[in-house]
Amino acid sequence: MNEMFHEALPVLKKIEEAGFKAYFVGGCVRDFCLERPIKDIDIATSARPEEIQRIFPKTIPVGIEHGTVIVRHNHVSYEITTFRKEDKYEDYRRPSKVWFVDDLQEDLSRRDFTFNAMAMDTSFHLIDHFGGRDDLKFGQIRTVGNPHLRFSEDPLRLMRACRFMSVYDMKIETETKKAIEKKAPLLKKISTERISIEFIKLLQGVQAGQALEFMKQSAVMDYLPYPLKEKKIDGYLGLEWTLLHTEDQRWAAIILLSQVRDSREFLKRWKLPNTTINKVQELLSAFEVRTWSKIDLYRTGLSTALESMTLKSTIEKVPYEQEKQDLRKLASEIPITSRKDLPIDGEEILKIKQKAPGVWLGKLLHEMEEKIVKGDLSLSESVLKDWVKRWEP
Ligand code: ATP
Ligand code: MG
Repeated sequence: MNEMFHEALPVLKKIEEAGFKAYFVGGCVRDFCLERPIKDIDIATSARPEEIQRIFPKTIPVGIEHGTVIVRHNHVSYEITTFRKEDKYEDYRRPSKVWFVDDLQEDLSRRDFTFNAMAMDTSFHLIDHFGGRDDLKFGQIRTVGNPHLRFSEDPLRLMRACRFMSVYDMKIETETKKAIEKKAPLLKKISTERISIEFIKLLQGVQAGQALEFMKQSAVMDYLPYPLKEKKIDGYLGLEWTLLHTEDQRWAAIILLSQVRDSREFLKRWKLPNTTINKVQELLSAFEVRTWSKIDLYRTGLSTALESMTLKSTIEKVPYEQEKQDLRKLASEIPITSRKDLPIDGEEILKIKQKAPGVWLGKLLHEMEEKIVKGDLSLSESVLKDWVKRWEP
């Protein structure tokens, strides 16, 4: 049995000793059945949050009103959630009301897909009321209960289905698929943040191409924060997504394949963090470079340049191995990799010039870097000081 389950066992046992039921549930049971690495362990219990707080002296009340408390044990956090059932998701963010229930099966039946609705007890016996294990074997995504109702309750599940398709290389069961096609417009009701989280996970899956193609055919694509229109023939499906190792590369690939004009606006609409937006923009600019000069390479940075080359070779289906070698060689001929490598800094320059800081300083440094990178100025401190003395804006 997986080590993570063993480490969590004392937590569940303690709940049982207090007279309540406790089970492993959700993603950890699914990933265990798939023999995949387990990210975190979630626990479901018949104990109410206050009882969990009584059993464990140190808890973090992350979502008491929905029944969730975090317990720390041996430096690991465990989310412990009271068995519950839910009302309709009126605001499409969270259920408008939750009821605590005493029965595990009732709790499992509110979960989205059969493979997410399995539990495991403290003897590691699997509880699988909805055929989740068989669905995993068939590689099939199926809702617990009527898919039309389940998607209407919480349309985010549409995105989750597409995400599981991509990450686990699974197909969507026929009725579930029909319901997705029908309910796609409901995605309008879901917040961008929630959609983004699922879409980012989808993008990183091994079958991102299949999932994107399905999203296109089922019209889910039309209800994303920025509806995508695939422009290149055999675009999403034809791409070898596994060659793109970073999230940034995958966003850039989407933009290129869909021929999105304003990439910054596109990325902003997905509410991505600025670090991601900037990195993707850098990749896209690097993608446009045809012949790399030392100064282009210096400003871009070798790793981004190489990442953009991988992107290019994946999209154009050309290896570009020689070009990558050439880039590495060119980089090795550049004496500095950033301003930090300069033997003199801004403060020293101010002293030499006896001037107040201003725009001129940035200009000087920019010029100095450029000359060094091109090999027109040597990296010696005295040479540079001399050059600074003579420099005129
Ligand atoms: P991950 O591996 O990304 O954590 P996960 O399936 O564990 O995937 P979580 O968001 O951590 O996803 O949710 C934990 C469990 O809660 C799921 O396995 C599922 O049983 C249930 N769940 C999550 N989101 C929903 C939802 N929108 N509708 C119904 N059940 C859900
Ligand atoms: Mg999880």
